[in-house]
Amino acid sequence: LFKGYISRAPIETDMELKIGNKIKLRAPTESGALLVKNLYVSCDPYMRARMRDFHGSYLPPFRPGSVIEGFGVSKVIDSDDQNFKPGDIVSGFTGWEEYTLIRSTESVRRVAADEDIPLSYHIGLLGMPGFTAYAGFFQVCSPKKDDYVFVSAASGAVGQLVGQLAKLHGCYVVGSAGSNHKVDLLKNKLGFDEAFNYKEEPDLDAALKRYFPHGIDVYFENVGGDMLDAVLLNMRLHGRIAVCGMVSQHGNSDPKGIRNLIHVIPKRIRMQGFLQSDFVHLFPRFVDEVTALYKQGKIIYVEDVNEGLETGPSAFVGLFSGKNVGKQVIRVA
Ligand code: NDP
Repeated sequence: LFKGYISRAPIETDMELKIGNKIKLRAPTESGALLVKNLYVSCDPYMRARMRDFHGSYLPPFRPGSVIEGFGVSKVIDSDDQNFKPGDIVSGFTGWEEYTLIRSTESVRRVAADEDIPLSYHIGLLGMPGFTAYAGFFQVCSPKKDDYVFVSAASGAVGQLVGQLAKLHGCYVVGSAGSNHKVDLLKNKLGFDEAFNYKEEPDLDAALKRYFPHGIDVYFENVGGDMLDAVLLNMRLHGRIAVCGMVSQHGNSDPKGIRNLIHVIPKRIRMQGFLQSDFVHLFPRFVDEVTALYKQGKIIYVEDVNEGLETGPSAFVGLFSGKNVGKQVIRVA
């Protein structure tokens, strides 16, 4: 359960585990609802914004005392919606609980049974984070073969796919991450040309100059702050910056200004924020293309799977200190 609104970084005790609610395993008639058993739920950085008492965002805040809502993969137990039947595997908004009555099936889609695709991938590689990488890279970055591409939070749920798609597109790709283990993953498993641990770089501008002596054409922005400032110094003429997220700035009540923003003018940089939901019409194409690439062995996906709902709070909090290695999911059942 979500306990109450916060304006600082989340801590585990902002959430609590409640045991023992008895529920009826039936979807009420004429409700249009689905009763599902949750198999996996997703930990995503955007959920932090729902812990604030702020109503101007694209998703409403969580209600204090209510079950945390998020993406999940679930099995339909009972259905009052003619599009779903018991036994179907679905993906969409559900609750951090064992069983959920999903009253609005708007976000819910049936997942094709495929023994080659792990079920958890429907909240990762083939779910919202994977789609963010696909839509952000192809629709916002305007990538060209041989572009110099930089990805921050590169080993995470979104970043790891951005880098692999960029490589397949013929780009030169460098990623940054917060540990040497993650750097090793990027270079030796995920196929990035280079990677560096930003926490060990006293001068980010110098680090970027080392990896991009000719400058950066495309920056896929996941972190904001000092990294964005250093990137602006290293962008090439007509470079593109896709602003996907700024995880270092979430809940930051005193964000530092971006000192080097003025470089967008002489370098004619296009800097564009986006939400993956802007491109929802491309979702079926994304699923087909990325499924095929995965089955052909052209991309891989790294997950960090926690066992049991009781591990949810620590897994979620860990997103903001870089504890997760790859896409953070929680196996519920
Ligand atoms: P990740 O799986 O990458 O997890 C978050 C990672 O961010 C951590 O592992 C950590 O990696 C890094 N991080 C955390 N705090 C900081 C910090 N203070 N400074 C620098 N890095 C930090 O998350 P996702 O891939 O799911 O999300 C990546 C970004 O994309 C987020 O900003 C998210 O909000 C955004 N997003 C945007 C969407 C959109 O539609 N625009 C949709 C989905 C995600 P490390 O160890 O490398 O520091």
